[in-house]
Amino acid sequence: MQQTISIAYSRQSFEELPHEQQQVAQAAIDAMQGAHAPYSNFLVGSAVLLADGSTVTGNNQENAAYPSGLCAERVALFAAKSQTKQSIRIVAIAAQNEHGKCADSFSCGSCRQVMMEYATLQDEKIAVIMRDHEGQFVVLEDARQLLPFSFGADTLK
Ligand SMILES: [Zn+2]
Repeated sequence: MQQTISIAYSRQSFEELPHEQQQVAQAAIDAMQGAHAPYSNFLVGSAVLLADGSTVTGNNQENAAYPSGLCAERVALFAAKSQTKQSIRIVAIAAQNEHGKCADSFSCGSCRQVMMEYATLQDEKIAVIMRDHEGQFVVLEDARQLLPFSFGADTLK
């Protein structure tokens, strides 16, 4: 039987975002400056908003042994979860290319997998805000929508 998956999202300017989302998005933008990206010069920043309103940030960390590096959002997510058991409410991501221009910051599959697992374990949605190459913000209410048929989801509960 044929079935279809659809994903609901919004795309809006920074000014159109609700105030709380603006704050997390701005934290992600600011976090780009801490990136260690001497190989790609592609800067990515991420910010995670926790249940108590606090924010944990991260940025891409590259390494001469390329696979040893880590994406910004996983740096932020792992830092947050290493410090607290609080649930995660929002993950924001922003990127700029080697020319200093906005670039799509859509999460890779591994980061989507990590967000899926945390959202499933906390049994609460994690909203995702990703700045695109035009400087607009793509917002999804539930990170799990980014990874249908995800690995291991059936074993987490
Ligand atoms: Zn990633």
